[in-house]
Amino acid sequence: MKIYYIEEDILKYLLSYVETYCKTEIEAISLNNCKTDEIENSEKNLILISSTSLYDMNRTHEVLKKIKIQFPETKIRIILGGSMHYILNNEDFLNHYTQASHICVGKGEEFLRTLIDKKVPKGVHFAEDFGNIKPYRINKKYRIEKEVKITFNDNRCDWQKCLFCHHQTRHVCPINTAEKIAEDVEYYIKECNYKHFYFYDNNMNPHVLNKFLKILLEKGLNKYSPTFYLFGLRVDSQFEVLTEILEQWKPSPIVGGSWGLEFYDQEILDLYNKNTKLKQIDNALAFFHKYGIANDAYLLLGLPGVNNKHIEHFKEFIDHKSYLVRDYRVSFFLLNPFIRMYEDKEKFKMHEKNYLTLQDFFLDKINAPKIRTIFKNFDSWDEDLGRYVDRGETLRKYFPILKHKKMKFHPNMFLLDDHSCNLLTSLRLLGEKSEEKS
Ligand code: SF4
Repeated sequence: MKIYYIEEDILKYLLSYVETYCKTEIEAISLNNCKTDEIENSEKNLILISSTSLYDMNRTHEVLKKIKIQFPETKIRIILGGSMHYILNNEDFLNHYTQASHICVGKGEEFLRTLIDKKVPKGVHFAEDFGNIKPYRINKKYRIEKEVKITFNDNRCDWQKCLFCHHQTRHVCPINTAEKIAEDVEYYIKECNYKHFYFYDNNMNPHVLNKFLKILLEKGLNKYSPTFYLFGLRVDSQFEVLTEILEQWKPSPIVGGSWGLEFYDQEILDLYNKNTKLKQIDNALAFFHKYGIANDAYLLLGLPGVNNKHIEHFKEFIDHKSYLVRDYRVSFFLLNPFIRMYEDKEKFKMHEKNYLTLQDFFLDKINAPKIRTIFKNFDSWDEDLGRYVDRGETLRKYFPILKHKKMKFHPNMFLLDDHSCNLLTSLRLLGEKSEEKS
């Protein structure tokens, strides 16, 4: 079986998995080295395409268009995956791209193994229906371009009660011990020459992390200067248990971490059931900063119920504590039917409108089809103005903090009217200029 794939790290992980566990013989062919006219249009073969961001959608669109022209009668099975498929209406997607055969939502390892060895009907499939992923390592022949992704525990956090949270996953990877991950890291460092690792746990247990770092230090792996980035941290975790190892291992092998702060106001954190305290935010940022670890802070703006007083409070934090933060990763709240607060639309005073499409995300700047997303446009009650406002008007309330030069906007920020986007861009430029002067 020939499997054609686009050079994406995520697909190299999947190929390593199926090469380890599939019975069928596979020949993996990179589409970067192969002209598409060399593709064998046979139903035995596969094309893998992954879209993990809005920008990837542009490429996916172009590849699918090209294949349709080349093979008007598409026999080869075209498999799509990647996190974009969490937020798209996948039935719309398949109706539009009739040449695509399967979509996998979630982790694709076991789905792809089943598809290769057995048969899976065309359509949309959820990875969780295909069983647990077995342990594996990336095949040495595939060179990973970014950091190697590792995890102790791939589940979302233990809390799972924030009203705006749309993370629905459960464990599909085995929970790994500190010893097992230390072994993997040793292999990647010594056998493959990788040095940079990315923990994608959303449930990082500082005690396990501490044990893991101690094992690496005992094995003498510090001489290779490996680096670790920690994704998705909660500020109420007990990171102080790392004090001893961080005092011993300098500079810190943990180079950065991303914290889900959301908003700096206790009333808002409580309203949305975040279950964290402002003091915990202060302590977490100060602790990492002390050891030279970069703090990236995830913010969620545009939540209904936020008034000017809350924003003013948040601005004080931005003005006085930004020296502790490397980047703010800013998202703008979007309504979707899978979050807890959707049931409480009345309480949060939201008037939902139409579904937003892929084209809305690009503001017509590319030729994106009108595939619906899971997100709905809405108006919400503005306490300060005493009326319902749209998302563009809500965004403008945040301008006092958005001009800070450390703000990095998620593409969903641009899912607004053109006028707001232009204002946002001008404000950023203004913010950068004033920072340069000072
Ligand atoms: S802490 Fe993060 S992952 Fe956990 S429920 Fe809240 S938003 Fe979701």
